[in-house]
Amino acid sequence: MDSFKKMVIFCDFDGTVTINDNIINIMKYFNPPGWETIKNDTLAGKMSVREGVGHMFLLLPTAYREEIVHYAIKQAKIRAGFDKFIQFCQDHNIRLLITSGGIDFFVYPILSQYHIPQNDIFCNSSDFSGKQIKILWPFSCDTQCSNDCGMCKPSILRSLSTNDSMNIVIGDSITDLAIAKMADLVIARDFLLQKCKEHSLPYKEFNSFFDVINILNQIPISEV
Ligand code: MG
Ligand code: ZN
Repeated sequence: MDSFKKMVIFCDFDGTVTINDNIINIMKYFNPPGWETIKNDTLAGKMSVREGVGHMFLLLPTAYREEIVHYAIKQAKIRAGFDKFIQFCQDHNIRLLITSGGIDFFVYPILSQYHIPQNDIFCNSSDFSGKQIKILWPFSCDTQCSNDCGMCKPSILRSLSTNDSMNIVIGDSITDLAIAKMADLVIARDFLLQKCKEHSLPYKEFNSFFDVINILNQIPISEV
């Protein structure tokens, strides 16, 4: 019975926790020649997300480290109700995981003001030891995924969900679609919302995390 299942939430970061897309904002601001072509090729599926993100950051010199990190943290805007949502999850014994295609140097600092254990935050890593920023991929695809995701959300769900978990995915974009197809419920906005409709996935729409709390409140929860 669903009411005895334990909720596990897989929550996207860019465009979901934050209103903006942090990687795109960083690229727009520092504007290294060639980033837009890489972005367009990635969106068009001509290269994988891992290749696209990796190549874009290779355009940025590590000499700008401080400016880049400072800008990335400064420009981020958190979606309304996120703090209440974290509290709600803690109060109801819901496991909240942040599954982000973003990079450690902005994801961790932006989330540091909230009570989320670092082990429950999944994102890509960065290496500033060379001349250009190199992205590292500690959570790349398992043997069942061939999308070359970079940060592979379906692999994380496979490794963490159990038979008695109710998997809820919160997200906004194409990079959430594969994990959304594995979810018991998708809480979606923007592009992901359209895709949920097209693929007839079980979904609810959200704009703020207050909406998310209302949606979760309507699901019978096992608190034991
Ligand atoms: Mg997103
Ligand atoms: Zn993958």
